[in-house]
Amino acid sequence: MSTKTKPMPHVPDVENASMEDRLYTVTYREAEESHLGIEDTDVCSTTCTTYECTSVCPASVWKNDREDGVPSIAFENCLECGSCRFACPYDNVEWEYPETGAGVSFRYG
Ligand code: SF4
Ligand code: SF4
Repeated sequence: MSTKTKPMPHVPDVENASMEDRLYTVTYREAEESHLGIEDTDVCSTTCTTYECTSVCPASVWKNDREDGVPSIAFENCLECGSCRFACPYDNVEWEYPETGAGVSFRYG
């Protein structure tokens, strides 16, 4: 019987890497237009009090930093994980994939 074992694929060593270190391994091609948006900004400014879009985003794309209560969206940094779309309790997030060729690319070691 053969004792040969299959070679393991290379697994990048990301143990203890900070989120900033991990984000450093992704690259972006900037789109001209945002693939993210808000259906009804009044819902953000007058109804929503919890701002899940800001808390679930791993890349801090959504920020509650405006006086009118409508979150700002730094779409260029989006990792396309889709979390904001599902986290919004008012189904108020417009979400599409970026235009062809734009958006994020991941490097796995
Ligand atoms: S969670 Fe939804 S409704 Fe609330 S601020 Fe974000 S996009 Fe607006
Ligand atoms: S898709 Fe993910 S990374 Fe992009 S804005 Fe939404 S939560 Fe943030």
